Amino acid sequence: MNGSGENRYNKGFEKISKKLKLLYPCACCGENSYNKKEVHHIDENKKNSKIENLIVLCRECHALVHFKKQTIPEVNYKNNSIIVKISNDHDYIKKGSKVDIIQINSKTALEYRKQNVKAWIKPGPCNFYIGMIIDDSLRGVLGFQNPDYAEYDLLLKADTANSSEKYSTELLLYLLKTKKCKDLLEKKFNRDIHNVYSTCFSKHCEISRYRKFGKKIKSVETKDGFNVLYLFEIGSIKTIKEAVSLFFQKHKDL
Ligand SMILES: [Zn+2]
Ligand SMILES: [Zn+2]
Repeated sequence: MNGSGENRYNKGFEKISKKLKLLYPCACCGENSYNKKEVHHIDENKKNSKIENLIVLCRECHALVHFKKQTIPEVNYKNNSIIVKISNDHDYIKKGSKVDIIQINSKTALEYRKQNVKAWIKPGPCNFYIGMIIDDSLRGVLGFQNPDYAEYDLLLKADTANSSEKYSTELLLYLLKTKKCKDLLEKKFNRDIHNVYSTCFSKHCEISRYRKFGKKIKSVETKDGFNVLYLFEIGSIKTIKEAVSLFFQKHKDL
């Protein structure tokens, strides 16, 4: 736990522990506010800060674990150990890159946005964020909001792909259509999800990239630029692998 034992932690623990707290909720109760979270050493050896030995717990659950009143659930952070970093232009996906999507928390999504997004998105608060992971780093974020009025299932509120990265939006939108994305959304919102609207406010040409991947329902011009609504069908691509291969078929120049 925290406190006097701090100096017994090995180097690197602070860094990895910060990263895990940004990415994961309490493994026991789902508490997700950063300041309430701590990182526990499963074998209670504070020098063993290998990722397999670490688990994110909130203060309460952490105490219960130490008092042996709570068992430690299984987690697998290893495959999802990602870092939020800025990548070089045109360098974000190569053939053979490992692509995945995972649930991320809002703090990570906002941090990513701060570092990467070039001002063409006006996102509101979202209920749920899905991150696109390529070779262990976060390269795009989809934010979802429950609609107040329901002629569709969900609102895709933010697509925070780095607009300087070639085709990143296209890949995100393919991933949006995968079964895994649908499963994550249905689990989160506890109901069937079939359609997602995307609302983007933009004068920027990047918006045109949406047109290829979503069936356009309507577009409304606003005084700030364009308020464009698109409909995406969720879960129409079976696997992430299939989404990636469709992506490469479309962009043979990569
Ligand atoms: Zn502990
Ligand atoms: Zn907890």
